[in-house]
Amino acid sequence: TALPTAPILDLPVHLSADYTRSLVELVEAAQGGHVITLNAEMAMLAQREENLARLIRRADLVVPDGAGVVWALQRVGRRVRRCAGIDLVESALRQLAPRHTRIFLLGAAPGVAEAVGEGWRRQYPGLVVAGARDGFFGPDEASAVLEGIARSRPQLVLAGLGVPKQEYWIEQARRRLTDVVFVGVGGSFDIWSG
Ligand code: UDP
Repeated sequence: TALPTAPILDLPVHLSADYTRSLVELVEAAQGGHVITLNAEMAMLAQREENLARLIRRADLVVPDGAGVVWALQRVGRRVRRCAGIDLVESALRQLAPRHTRIFLLGAAPGVAEAVGEGWRRQYPGLVVAGARDGFFGPDEASAVLEGIARSRPQLVLAGLGVPKQEYWIEQARRRLTDVVFVGVGGSFDIWSG
């Protein structure tokens, strides 16, 4: 699925009529992937942080999250609809749950991702919440965290460690979990946990 892209601030944004479908297809393909929901803050940060810009350029799906990104695309003649990360994940889960997709939730303070996962088991029947844990671990724990995720055999990992920390974590994690699709979800677990 080679979607066309349009540039904003030298960063590619994928143009899709259906971002949910694009994400679901990535997961089904089981070849790994990094999904970025791009907003103006992240695009501005990438102007100063070349490593972040590089990861955005290499990402398998860059979604226009944020009104500023949509506006900038409109200025270069590209009409896209805004696709907020929270809505993208929720609509993808609705489609993935009947297929018994295995997901792992990583991020936020202790208890938060676990609570979100508990709620999602009821909310999305069929979804396999393979595991969840908080996003506060030291460098000494990082490899144990990754092995724990690997043992749960997820197809989709939602990483909510904040931008750009989650993007760098995803870059590392992909070396170990090559067939897993990762989505950076920022502070979304705090919102989902109510
Ligand atoms: N967070 C984390 N580990 C860290 C630092 C932050 O899990 O080492 C979590 C934090 O609890 C919050 C999220 O990352 O849930 C960041 O939220 P924020 O809204 O600041 O993120 P943004 O979407 O703006 O990057």
